[in-house]
Amino acid sequence: MKNIIKNKVFNRLHQSVKKNNFSHFYIFYGPQNIGKKRLALDFAKSILCNSIKDTEACNECDSCKKIYSETHYDLINVDNQTPIEGINDNKSDQIRIGHIHEIIRNSNLGPFMGKYKIFIINDAENLNNEASNAFLKLLEEPPMTSIFIFLVNDISLVYPTIISRAQKINLSENSDSEIMNYLDDNFQLDKELEELIVHFSSGKIELADSFANDTTLIDDYVESCERFYDFCNGDLNQRMNISQKLSSSFRSDRKMIYDELNLWISYCKIIIKKKFNKNNAFEFKKNLENLYSLDQINEIILILLKTQSYLQNNANSRLVFDVMSIDIPEKTNHDKQL
Ligand SMILES: [Zn+2]
Repeated sequence: MKNIIKNKVFNRLHQSVKKNNFSHFYIFYGPQNIGKKRLALDFAKSILCNSIKDTEACNECDSCKKIYSETHYDLINVDNQTPIEGINDNKSDQIRIGHIHEIIRNSNLGPFMGKYKIFIINDAENLNNEASNAFLKLLEEPPMTSIFIFLVNDISLVYPTIISRAQKINLSENSDSEIMNYLDDNFQLDKELEELIVHFSSGKIELADSFANDTTLIDDYVESCERFYDFCNGDLNQRMNISQKLSSSFRSDRKMIYDELNLWISYCKIIIKKKFNKNNAFEFKKNLENLYSLDQINEIILILLKTQSYLQNNANSRLVFDVMSIDIPEKTNHDKQL
């Protein structure tokens, strides 16, 4: 079982376990892959462990093992894909009132194995209006044996009345050295690969973990960066063609496009960061610096963030990508590579 990074957030949660003083409702928020799920599982372990020492879960007991494999009866994961009884079409990307009704029913049954039942609601910014209202009702009198944890990428999309009822935990990027230590503790990788992963994961522990578990993902990552490079390198016509493809992919698989936009943002950040840290030997074959100044790359990050936010607010996706195509500056540097 993996060691996790023990930072301020970790300590705060563990103090509350020690004092047996925890809230019934938490919101863990921060960018995708930052480690929200992992923190929630660790917290669940320390609450449900059968032989806890001080505030640390033993990682050995039946309960710890079942939480780690996400098969514990008192740990319930919910997301927009969770089946709802009696509803066949589950294509919606929202968390719906049926999900909340199922949570209420399950929560009223009480825990099976331990003292608490823990509900992890993934991407909880996807609760629609009805579901949010039903959840607020539930919070008025939450069953004493239930703990609800919302994992949220963008907290601005959650009802303020829900936020105000929660114990909020803000997760931020880990430092490169924390990620490096984490990889040293848990994997046996050669130094060069380790550095590459630190570089690509940009402080996001869950991303570092995926790369270390499956190094072919690094190639996928680089391909995605190169797609963005080609987009920037294109003229307006070429960009508009790509815009059309992005928009039709978005209609069939929103998550894939959000992931792609996140990768592009982190690609821009890596290029900026690299400017200030020359120790890292890795070079992109297609480097945005061949096209733009650093100021322009900064500007592009803002445009990508704006694009994400428009999409999350359900603006017309074709229009959003067309605007992005026009907003992203034309290349100014001479392309030295191609
Ligand atoms: Zn245990």
